[in-house]
Amino acid sequence: MSSNQAVPENSPHILVLGMGGTIAGLAPNPELDPRSYKAGELSIETLLSTIQEEIPGHVKLLAQQVANINSRDLGEDLLTLLGNSVKTSLENSAVQGIVITHGTDTAEEAGFFLSTTCGKLAEKLGKRVVLTGAMLPANAPQADGPLNLIDALKWAATSPENCPGGVFAVFAGKVCLARDLAKRHTSALNAPLMDSPSSPVGLVNPSWMSGVRATQEACGDDLPIPQGLWPWVEILTSHAGARPEAIEFLANTGVQGLVLAGTGLGGFHQAWEGALKLAQDKGIALIKTSRTGAGMIEEESALGLTAGSLSAPRARIALQLALNAAKGDKSLTWQDFFARIVVLPEIR
Ligand code: ASP
Repeated sequence: MSSNQAVPENSPHILVLGMGGTIAGLAPNPELDPRSYKAGELSIETLLSTIQEEIPGHVKLLAQQVANINSRDLGEDLLTLLGNSVKTSLENSAVQGIVITHGTDTAEEAGFFLSTTCGKLAEKLGKRVVLTGAMLPANAPQADGPLNLIDALKWAATSPENCPGGVFAVFAGKVCLARDLAKRHTSALNAPLMDSPSSPVGLVNPSWMSGVRATQEACGDDLPIPQGLWPWVEILTSHAGARPEAIEFLANTGVQGLVLAGTGLGGFHQAWEGALKLAQDKGIALIKTSRTGAGMIEEESALGLTAGSLSAPRARIALQLALNAAKGDKSLTWQDFFARIVVLPEIR
């Protein structure tokens, strides 16, 4: 590994962007209570220095601290900053690949956002953007961060013949498309990709790789990264005893879109119907997802568009990017842009 100081910016390198998270976290009492810690404490340079010995000599690294936060506090302004920095760095011929250390709480949003705004560019340039993080803080006896970071660097440095460019994520020895990230467990070490199509990092599974290629072919052009304020979109969950007041409140307060995390196939409580109809008539974008966490939305109703198999957090990012894109390109509607993001092949 080379440190920030040792590698000139114009010589070939992997760029490592630090966003914080548990991988950079420290526990006051790591032996007795590793799950009680503060995220975003160590710098990206410090994290890299701990794995220096494990990095093959030919892999040169440059590090950049974008943020050092607990990712549950991730804001849209930071997504814009991260997206801009990934895009500019991909276009830099000295950058061979990018690794991002990120908190796992909102890695789903960051992964989906980067896939949708920088995925095609990465693919076209044959470069990999790789998100990673950890479930245990850096000073825990069983810390998973160092190995995840080493695996992510290896994946970013893998030669293009073995794997196409694109946006990926690496956790617990496995790699998945970053658009498939979803934290599905509070503490399991493989929580961010436990339910995602994935492959061992060391021995790529051919059926996963053909799924990757099919998904990439089905994905449309990159959408623009919102540069100012992002469109305001909220997620509402349907449940027993659901009431219309939350919808009415948001509709009267300037919300631009609502993602409905419905029950089962994507339906929602009938108590919502009148308020949703009024919201839609007012021009508020409605998207249907399912709170079950897996499967396609099959609910047919005149209200809203379906989000295919996208989870509510991903559908929210998709809707924000679609609303933003339609603002800049009047020849297409937000529905056109949204459809471009949602369509994916059956094999998933
Ligand atoms: N709360 C932490 C974060 O998302 C959790 C993690 O990184 O695993 O920053």
